[in-house]
Amino acid sequence: MADPGEVASGVRVYRAHVFHIAGAPAQADVAAHLVSLPDGALVVDGEGMVAWVGPWASLPARYVDAPVTRADYLLPGFVDAHVHYPQSYATAAHGGGQLLEWLDHCIFPTEARFADPEFAGRAARYFTRRRIAAGTTAAMVFGSAFPVAQDALYRATLDAGLRVVSGRGVQTVGPPAASSLLTSEEKAIELVADEIDRWHAVDTGDPCSALVQVAIVPRFSLSVTQRTLAAMGELYEEAQLHGVYFHSHLNENNRKGDGEIAAVLGSYGVEAYLDTYDGRFLPGSRMGGRSLLGRRSSLAHAVHCQPRELARMAETGTSIAHCPTSQLFLGSGTMPWRSTVATGVNVALGSDIGAGDEWLISRVAGDAYKVHISEEGDAGTAIHPAELLFAATLAGARALDMEHAFGNLDAGKDADFLLIDTSRWEPLEGMLSMGIRSDDEEQATLEELFTLLVGLRQPAIAGVYVQGRQAVTPEL
Ligand SMILES: [Zn+2]
Repeated sequence: MADPGEVASGVRVYRAHVFHIAGAPAQADVAAHLVSLPDGALVVDGEGMVAWVGPWASLPARYVDAPVTRADYLLPGFVDAHVHYPQSYATAAHGGGQLLEWLDHCIFPTEARFADPEFAGRAARYFTRRRIAAGTTAAMVFGSAFPVAQDALYRATLDAGLRVVSGRGVQTVGPPAASSLLTSEEKAIELVADEIDRWHAVDTGDPCSALVQVAIVPRFSLSVTQRTLAAMGELYEEAQLHGVYFHSHLNENNRKGDGEIAAVLGSYGVEAYLDTYDGRFLPGSRMGGRSLLGRRSSLAHAVHCQPRELARMAETGTSIAHCPTSQLFLGSGTMPWRSTVATGVNVALGSDIGAGDEWLISRVAGDAYKVHISEEGDAGTAIHPAELLFAATLAGARALDMEHAFGNLDAGKDADFLLIDTSRWEPLEGMLSMGIRSDDEEQATLEELFTLLVGLRQPAIAGVYVQGRQAVTPEL
């Protein structure tokens, strides 16, 4: 038992094999920043911050009497940079086609059900349960059109002790199947402003530390108009100063002639899809309003970007939420990994539930590995295990402009982490304990990390912590 006279109040030590990406490396330097502590210790102070991390054998004397929790592995919490809350029940839905057909047949009808407060309340609790089961401590959550459902999401997230950035999905134009999700342009802006007023940084009042934050979220350019985008730009001018986010979709589906990208270019008359979010939404990509890009902006997919779009995202600090699982599901193609990260744009991972059918971000990382090793010719690459860990954790924190607070286990950050117990998932235990490893110690460490990430399944996640507190799973 700890002697409270010797250890500061509330201090706890977690002893496990610790992996994280230390510091704040550029993508190209990630491998050099991988930390592996085979018998490691993470010290969490009474405020829920990382007080110390290092080898168990070097644990400072002031912590040796603190209570100890043991696990097989300890990782930073996973960050899901793109997940649709109103599609919680729509995973593995047969859409009979690619993006636009799937939206019409599966998604607009399922999202319409969130107008019912009782349904939405249950869905918010279900969504929160799925996040905890998957170890998703932070997420950019694409929201429901209905304020009552957004209220339920924020309440459930606060009760569970998780992080969230979300915003109601804005649609001011759309096909008949989306009719119940549409509002007028004036109403759309009014509802977004109201959500910001009521929920942005509601828990601390400070966007640097808040667990709950709000984003401006048009579903995609086809769901809004030039007028809506102009009005969003005006709203964002002030909201941006308070840390409000911007989030949407970009260059996802390129089916010839009638895919999403062709439809955006055709309806706006722009030269590049990104221009619609960059204030250049008038024909010929002329400037028509304020840009929505920046360090608190992220765009999902970016599968079929022009070089100048990637350069503009890198220049403005806008991140990509890469969603390979979803891209496989909808036949959207593959974001080229090497040429995209080479531009310097930050690439995080998104489940894109429900087009993605997998909540666990490490499995999305596994899909990223598979699709990028399968890219043709010189584009194909075996992503380094440290880069997979980075994409699942620190790059996500960077996409949320919250790298100062979480994403790795550096001392002074909030203690957002996962405990993994391999005995809870027999195949993982088998692969990690009996798998062949290189004789070279450094190579063997990388192999172990790769197997841990790609082989991990939800049952092996034994503890999910945000700011040092264990997430509380709600009853349905
Ligand atoms: Zn999406």
